[in-house]
Amino acid sequence: MSEVRVVSLPGDGIGPEVTEAMTHVLEAVASKYGHRLTVAEYAVGYHAFEECGTPLPDETLAAAVKGPAVFLGAVGDPRADGLTGDKRPEAALLRLRSELQCFANLRPAKVDQPLVTMSALKPEIASGCDMVIVRELTGGLYYGMPRGNDGTRAVNTLVYTASEVERVARVAFELAGRRRGHLTSVDKANVLEVSQLWRSIVSDLASEYPEVTLEHMLVDRAAMELVTYPARFDVILTENMFGDILSDEASAMCGSLGLLSSASVGGDVGLYEPVHGSAPDIAGRGIANPIGAIRSGAMMLSHSFGLQEEADAVEGAVTRVLADGLRTADLAGPNGKAVSTREFANAVAEAIA
Ligand code: NAD
Repeated sequence: MSEVRVVSLPGDGIGPEVTEAMTHVLEAVASKYGHRLTVAEYAVGYHAFEECGTPLPDETLAAAVKGPAVFLGAVGDPRADGLTGDKRPEAALLRLRSELQCFANLRPAKVDQPLVTMSALKPEIASGCDMVIVRELTGGLYYGMPRGNDGTRAVNTLVYTASEVERVARVAFELAGRRRGHLTSVDKANVLEVSQLWRSIVSDLASEYPEVTLEHMLVDRAAMELVTYPARFDVILTENMFGDILSDEASAMCGSLGLLSSASVGGDVGLYEPVHGSAPDIAGRGIANPIGAIRSGAMMLSHSFGLQEEADAVEGAVTRVLADGLRTADLAGPNGKAVSTREFANAVAEAIA
C-alpha cells in the first residue's frame, strides 16, 4: 500500500470542476489498488485573492513546497483584469513553478484514435501519434543574463551549464526507458555553441541507458517532422525556447485544449496541471472536458508516486471511455450528444474499478 498525498489547488473558473473529476478518478485508483489517498485543498488564483488579498496565500505555498505532489486546476478570472503585478492570478502560478524548482516540463501529445478526425492534421498523418516533449524549464534564453532593451539595441543571452543539461536529459532518458525506448534530442548544433554542448552531454549519457535509442535532430527538421510524420516520435528532449514552441505545435494535433496534460518535475515536489486555462466562457456549467486534468493525475501517479501500473490504468480507462463514444461538449461538436464533466469522470472511474 502507498500513501498518495496530494496538495490540491482547484483555482478559478473550470479549475474546481476538472479538479473534482480528477480527484474522483484518483479515488477509484486508490480503492482498486489499496492505496491511502489524502487530498488537502488550498486556495489559489483570483478566488484566493478575493479571500486573502493575494493569489498565493502563505498557507498554500507552505503546503505546496511540502508536497509531495501538487495538482493545480487552473487560475485566471476576467474580474482580475484590473489587477497588476503579483496580485494577478497568473502570478501565483509563476511563483509556484519557481518555488518548486521544477526544471523539466513534460507535455504529452497523444492522438486518441476515436478523435483522430478532430486533429489539425490529416487523419492518416495524425494516426498513431503518441509522444512526450520534455522541455528544460528553468534555464536558457528566458533566464540568461545579460538581458535588456535600450530602445536601439536589445539583448538576450542563451546559456546552459553542463549540469543543467545533464539533469533534464536524465529525466528524458528515464521516461523513454519507461515508454517505447526512443529519445530524440532536439537542438541547433549546426549554428549554436550551446547546442553543441547540449549534444555532447546528451550523447555522453546515452551509454548509461542502453535500453534507449538516442537520435539528435535539428530543431527546424523537428518542427517539420512534427506535422509530416509525428508518429515517429516517442520522447523529445529539448531546451526551454525550442520546447515552448514545439510543445504547442505538437498539442495542436490532439483535437481539443481540454485533452492536454502536463507535469513539471525535477525538484522534490512535482506540479501537475492540465494545459488549459480557467475557461471563464464555460465555467460553472459542468461541461468542461476533464481529460487533461485526469491525465495530469495519471502523470502524478507515475512521476511523484512511482505507481506506473495505476497510471497506465487511468490512461487505459480514458481510452476505453472515448472508444465507447462518450464525449464532452468540446469533443461532441454542435450536433453531437455530450455528457457532463462529472458523467465523463464517473465513466472513467467505473472503467478503472
Ligand atoms: P483557456 O484555456 O481558459 O480557454 C480557451 C478556450 O478553450 C475557451 O473557449 C475555453 O472554453 C476552451 N477550453 C479550455 N479548457 C477547456 C476544457 N477543459 N474543456 C472544454 N473547453 C475548454 O484560455 P483563455 O481563454 O485564453 O484564458 C482564460 C483564463 O485562463 C485567463 O485568465 C488566462 O490567463 C488563464 N490561463 C490560465 C492557465 C493556467 O492556469 N495554467 C493557462 C492558460 C490561461
